[in-house]
Amino acid sequence: MEKMSEEELLILEKGTVSCEDFEGLLGELVEGELSPTVAEKLHHHCEECQECHDGYELYEQVIDIARLIGKERQKEPSAMPDEVKKRLHQRLNASLGLRLS
Ligand SMILES: [Zn+2]
Repeated sequence: MEKMSEEELLILEKGTVSCEDFEGLLGELVEGELSPTVAEKLHHHCEECQECHDGYELYEQVIDIARLIGKERQKEPSAMPDEVKKRLHQRLNASLGLRLS
């Protein structure tokens, strides 16, 4: 049995993904922390919603950069430094009107 967060369970219950749901789970999605079923639903939303698609691509790019930096420093490759994450969120919030924290 997969372990799911409350947000994930909510999406499964509703069966649909709103932009708000997408924003809330964007970080987990890009970092591969979601259950496959929920990830699939989010990707589906992404295909239909340009705004969320842009947000996803931007986030993904920054994560890739963060991973490269992590590798160079020989740290845990998937860990994004808090400071980088914070700045990314601020940038996404400002450019896309998101409310990531
Ligand atoms: Zn959307």
